[in-house]
Amino acid sequence: ALELDRATVRFGGRAVLDAVDLVVAEHEVVCVLGPSGSGKSTLLRAVAGLQPLDSGRVALDGRDQAGVPAHRRELGLMFQDHQLFPQRDVGGNVAFGLRMHGMPRDRQGERVRELLELVGLPGAAGRAVASLSGGEQQRVALARALAPRPRLLMLDEPLGQLDRSLRERLVVELRELFGRLGTTVLAVTHDQGEAFALADRVVVMRDGRIAQSGSPLEVWQRPADAFVARFLGFDN
Ligand code: ATP
Ligand code: MG
Repeated sequence: ALELDRATVRFGGRAVLDAVDLVVAEHEVVCVLGPSGSGKSTLLRAVAGLQPLDSGRVALDGRDQAGVPAHRRELGLMFQDHQLFPQRDVGGNVAFGLRMHGMPRDRQGERVRELLELVGLPGAAGRAVASLSGGEQQRVALARALAPRPRLLMLDEPLGQLDRSLRERLVVELRELFGRLGTTVLAVTHDQGEAFALADRVVVMRDGRIAQSGSPLEVWQRPADAFVARFLGFDN
């Protein structure tokens, strides 16, 4: 499980993450929504160890992560700007995460095949990244993030650049995949439809704080305040 305890990040005196308390339970899928600049990416970066906290703490499975470098946190990361390596083939991209986590070379091939099957791209290991469609590349990035069996998968706008119909299809597939694998997920998205389809729990952020946290149904039926209601598109 992931635990944030009054996690705070300041830039130039402004708290971009303002004493955030958040727990993501084992096997839970949590989606973070909120306006641009509300601190969603900063939250993920702080958990990943890419952004130091000014105060508060991040714990994974009960262990304080202060001073634990990013690559030792056993997280799967899929950020919108995490491009695939164009000079490697699909298999090389998926295996990258495995090498990072120290899996011996002779065991990587089978794991890569397994992962590509999982994301619906069986037999794609030898293909050039450039020959894949946008949605296929997104699946490869997902396979790369999932490959080391991370204890927490963090996605920042994972389907950002895709068109609506592909997004809708992939969201359904992701939901099914996470359920089957029991993956613990913390995902950021701009798209509330996506969040509501994917999440066990939705977190709405405003100015570095959590404005509301609840099941998609709760948040939809009972927005905590006027801000959340407006954000969800209810006109009073
Ligand atoms: P978006 O939906 O646009 O991706 P976000 O909710 O992910 O927004 P963050 O990227 O977390 O927002 O940024 C929150 C605020 O912190 C923004 O106002 C941003 O300009 C500011 N910020 C983020 N990183 C830095 C930095 N390294 N230095 C200064 N300010 C920063
Ligand atoms: Mg962001």
